[in-house]
Amino acid sequence: MKRRGILVVVSGFSGAGKGTLMKKLIQTYEQYALSVSMTTRAPREGEENGREYFFVSKEEFEEKIRQDGLVEYAGYCGNYYGTPKQYVEAQLAAGKDVILEIEIQGALKVKQKFPTALLVFVMPPSAEELKRRLVGRGTETVEVIEKRLRRAGEEAQGIENYDYIVINDDLEECTRELHSMIRAAHHTPHRNEEFIENMRQELSVLVKGEE
Ligand code: 5GP
Repeated sequence: MKRRGILVVVSGFSGAGKGTLMKKLIQTYEQYALSVSMTTRAPREGEENGREYFFVSKEEFEEKIRQDGLVEYAGYCGNYYGTPKQYVEAQLAAGKDVILEIEIQGALKVKQKFPTALLVFVMPPSAEELKRRLVGRGTETVEVIEKRLRRAGEEAQGIENYDYIVINDDLEECTRELHSMIRAAHHTPHRNEEFIENMRQELSVLVKGEE
């Protein structure tokens, strides 16, 4: 049976270390494809167009929405963020598990559109540690950090909508845990409906043959 990939949505508070975790996951295992989002926020130092994000203007983003070129999109702290459709569909068809690193509104939209998507929420070990990481990153102003911490408080209300949480304390361990969650997800009945249905039909043909 040809294995089709599943959509894996990874969310987590800004500063929870999702970016590093995703890089590690992709480097360690070969069956994953990481979707590159489109955003209207300005690039941070060291970020490259087409690698971390496709950096576009508000007009370009809105044009993409009009063309129905996004799987989902959302507003986050004053900017648009969205997942381009074409790449996701091609990779899933090629059997890759596609990782979307997106915030909670987008995650819930994906779950509605694709009920077999797996939703994982990355948590920092503590709120103090979250703040420490955001400040330590040194790429955001105090104002933006405050906005992101407030947003974290709001997002914390929605965590129950996710299938799993993973605590990003030790990077290696966290990567292994995430990988095992995805592997396990491939084996649930609702992600194997076609296989199960075929089995039922074959069984009924076998039984009829013996009557
Ligand atoms: P940052 O500006 O820190 O790179 O990202 C801000 C937030 O936007 C993060 O929570 C990130 O996961 C989320 N995000 C990134 N890309 C997308 C996307 O394509 N769609 C949605 N809904 N959120 C995204």
